Amino acid sequence: MQRYDYLIVGAGMVAANAIDGIREQDTDGSIGILGAEPHGPVTRPALSKKLWTDPDFTEDKIWMQPEHDAHTTLHTNTRVTAIDRNARTVTVESGEAIGYGKLLLATGGAPVRLDALPESEQVRYFRDYADYRRLRELASEPRHVAVIGGSYIGTELAAALIQNGCRVTLVYPEAVLGGGMLPPSLADRLHQTYLDRGVELLGGRKVEGGEEADGKVTLALDDGSRLEVDAVVFGLGVTACSELAEQAGLEVDGGIVVDDRLATADDAIFAAGDVAIYPDRILGRWQAEHVDNANFMGATVGRIMAGSDERYTHTPYFYSNVFDIAWKAIGTLDSSLDIVEDVRDGKGVYYYRGRESDETGGRVKGILLLGLDADRLDLARDVLAVPEPLPAESLIGRIPLD
Ligand SMILES: Cc1cc2nc3c(=O)[nH]c(=O)nc-3n(C[C@H](O)[C@H](O)[C@H](O)COP(=O)(O)OP(=O)(O)OC[C@H]3O[C@@H](n4cnc5c(N)ncnc54)[C@H](O)[C@@H]3O)c2cc1C
Repeated sequence: MQRYDYLIVGAGMVAANAIDGIREQDTDGSIGILGAEPHGPVTRPALSKKLWTDPDFTEDKIWMQPEHDAHTTLHTNTRVTAIDRNARTVTVESGEAIGYGKLLLATGGAPVRLDALPESEQVRYFRDYADYRRLRELASEPRHVAVIGGSYIGTELAAALIQNGCRVTLVYPEAVLGGGMLPPSLADRLHQTYLDRGVELLGGRKVEGGEEADGKVTLALDDGSRLEVDAVVFGLGVTACSELAEQAGLEVDGGIVVDDRLATADDAIFAAGDVAIYPDRILGRWQAEHVDNANFMGATVGRIMAGSDERYTHTPYFYSNVFDIAWKAIGTLDSSLDIVEDVRDGKGVYYYRGRESDETGGRVKGILLLGLDADRLDLARDVLAVPEPLPAESLIGRIPLD
């Protein structure tokens, strides 16, 4: 039986960073990475952004190279099906058992799917490199593509496809694109930008199902209308791939619950990245499905598994870039919160405060930085760390715009 000192389940962005972290502490312990996909870790944000919009960003730049040395082995096409905590082994699809000293669960999330419309060559639930390749093939001719979902993946793919010659219809539940998350003034700007760029917007609607015939997909929308297109791509969010942990009797609550050392209740098993729920130093119990978290948490869990005494104290940010709108944020973005705007000349800071009626009334829960550099993120973390309510006047100018 093969055995690794460090075994990582999931060959994604966390895995790539965890290997760096392990190697900072332990130069020759054996590392095995078991990944379900036919390739190693990919820089996922590029799949919906740069690969479509930046001609200098070519496909060879998306690969993260995990196999640094002779003691590190990547097993592709290897899906793990079970963990035996007593034997300290995992079982893979072929039935083979692989042993571990320390085990990292870095299985990420799986796209939310509609049972009524299975994935096919014309219908994609977008997450991985194969989805990107298929969408590229579809976009090689000026097809009509429906993009479903008005959050990150949906807005990014709609922007990518319209800039690559497709006709695009974006279907989303909010009345205004981005309206559930962004401050109203910014959501209006986003919405108008998509219209100006020629994206057809079908707001206030959800897809209930659909069927494929003669190379076309006909979608059934919840207002009773139908939409016929050449292809459909969904971006409905993800659910954490936490089944292995659940089956192994570890605590799962929408994700795998870990402590501030990223450990589960089993001190040989850790979890990190999209799949982990952890106690954030500033935000409290948190789950971050974002790349800054995958990078920092991945490297941190690697060092901890290899003996470092540290805790995870990084509060991650997230971001979106579509057309000329670029923002970064930390914490909760919910447009129903009380939002204080400090905006000038297209740049600004939006402070999302607890509603007066809530027990967190006036406390800043989220901050969005529009068109500002990453050097403001630490200032945003400082504001979020203040436990008391902050009056609106005290926030204006607190994070400088110039
Ligand atoms: C298209 C796209 C664009 C994105 N853009 C942004 C962005 O602009 N900004 C941002 O902050 N974040 C973005 N993200 C999110 C970011 O990529 C994720 O937060 C990050 O990839 C999480 O890393 P991870 O290692 O936890 O999961 P992943 O990178 O998803 O890796 C998990 C891996 O585990 C594998 N796996 C799952 N179960 C098993 C199993 N049982 N056995 C073996 N392998 C298994 C999966 O196949 C997958 O390869 C984007 C994500 C996508 C999909």
